[in-house]
Amino acid sequence: MKICNIQEIPGIEKNVLEYMQEKQHEKVVFCSDESSNLKAIIAIHNTNLGPALGGTRMWNYSSISEAIQDVLRLSRGMTYKAAITGLNLGGGKAVIIGDSKDKTPEMMNAFGKFVESQCGQYITAEDVGMTTKDMELIFQETNHVVGKPFELGGSGDPSVITAYGTLMGMKGSAKYKWGHDSLKDKKVLIQGVGNVGKNLIKLLNDEEAIIYVNDVNEDKVKEIAKNYNVNILSDNIYNAEVDIYAPCALGGTLNDETIPQLKCSIIAGAANNQLAQEYIHDEMLARYNVLYAPDFLINAGGLINVYSELKGYSHDQVMLKTEKIYNTTIEILNKSEKDNISTQKAALQIAKERVFQKNSA
Ligand code: NAD
Repeated sequence: MKICNIQEIPGIEKNVLEYMQEKQHEKVVFCSDESSNLKAIIAIHNTNLGPALGGTRMWNYSSISEAIQDVLRLSRGMTYKAAITGLNLGGGKAVIIGDSKDKTPEMMNAFGKFVESQCGQYITAEDVGMTTKDMELIFQETNHVVGKPFELGGSGDPSVITAYGTLMGMKGSAKYKWGHDSLKDKKVLIQGVGNVGKNLIKLLNDEEAIIYVNDVNEDKVKEIAKNYNVNILSDNIYNAEVDIYAPCALGGTLNDETIPQLKCSIIAGAANNQLAQEYIHDEMLARYNVLYAPDFLINAGGLINVYSELKGYSHDQVMLKTEKIYNTTIEILNKSEKDNISTQKAALQIAKERVFQKNSA
């Protein structure tokens, strides 16, 4: 097992360090363990409000720089997600490079050792490509892990609460846009029917929304269609005639190519980093008159859930705090209108005020 810091990697240090300075990251750790074939990166964006908490993503990145970019963006998002939600946590994230099919218990243990080596400055959790079982294996090597199974004193899979928070953000956006928050007969497109997406479908089904789904994994779509009355979209989804688009797969789906095609009035989903370029595509959405509910605001339910694990888990408290996403969403949308700035900027302003206010933790 070897820990090296970024300055030891020739060739990439200039860009990465410049990016880190620009976006105010504190630290990046490259992790490699030959025997388990682990290749991972831990990024700590900011610890002003508390230890940096953020999930680990396992993904088959096409290049190391793609992985670095992802972990840097995701860890920054975690800082602002915790801040806007009122949690005393910093922002961090980890990525494991590789196909989740190739994951082994040895690899998870080796990753746990790297998390432990950060001495509590970074706390990990589940993200795309990881499971509650993986958290259990990581927990064998470090206490700095949340989202563990219930039997181990954990709060279980956070995606149920993430979906609930996303619904609250969606309903808050509906209230702002349409004057009422009923989703009955509203057409909602969910892209990605994984852990969060499938829970969101259940909630939207209870709301009597008309549900459209899309996923690159056809088996998952078939499974959903067995249990719910959904419309399956397999071609270009961005020009679908829907009221709400809920990105629940990967980030970057709001970009130069997709935004001009959109026919929806609201975007409210759980995926992290939905805007390909946050200060360009936020404005572009506003120009196209599409209301964007900032992802880091409305997908905070899972973070609220795992945070509660650190403080002594209470399901009731988690649900109450997650419900507040509804009001915060409306506040941010009102601020955006009043200050004539994008919804993303309005949310970031509030989050940054909390992070960079001295002694605010
Ligand atoms: P997941 O891996 O369980 O599900 C993701 C789904 O998206 C998979 O079914 C996958 O096949 C599908 N997908 C991937 N690329 C796609 C594409 N191009 N088009 C359509 N479908 C595609 O992940 P998850 O836990 O449900 O998380 C979904 C998103 O929400 C991620 O961006 C994650 O970072 C974010 N998020 C998750 C949580 C949580 O509690 N799990 C919390 C906050 C944010």
